[in-house]
Amino acid sequence: METVPSKRTLAFPRWHERQLFHAFAWLATCLLGGVVIATILEFVGLDTPGITPLITLVVLYVTGLMTIAAWRRFWGLLSWTQHCAGRATCARCGAYGRFDVATGAIAIPAECRRCGHRWTIEPS
Ligand SMILES: [Zn+2]
Repeated sequence: METVPSKRTLAFPRWHERQLFHAFAWLATCLLGGVVIATILEFVGLDTPGITPLITLVVLYVTGLMTIAAWRRFWGLLSWTQHCAGRATCARCGAYGRFDVATGAIAIPAECRRCGHRWTIEPS
């Protein structure tokens, strides 16, 4: 039996809400990374004897990279979501967000549910 992969679609307002939720989950991850870095510096520090400062620096470096990656992910997702929100109004009838979005799509083909006008929201 052959299965065809289904393309899941969401109404634009629901898709937008989910994108914002994911973006702010990345922001929370970024802030958590900052808390971890501050905690390590406060409770372990770099003025301990032996190899501990070297290990601490490695852990801080890795945590810092993960925190920066989380921030970049947050900002990219937030920017994309707001970019799409700014282009979600139908040029013909003025309806806002009255179309479905295929999840995971890079460019979003939109077809207004009110008047049938078609346009594509592409990455900037
Ligand atoms: Zn329309």
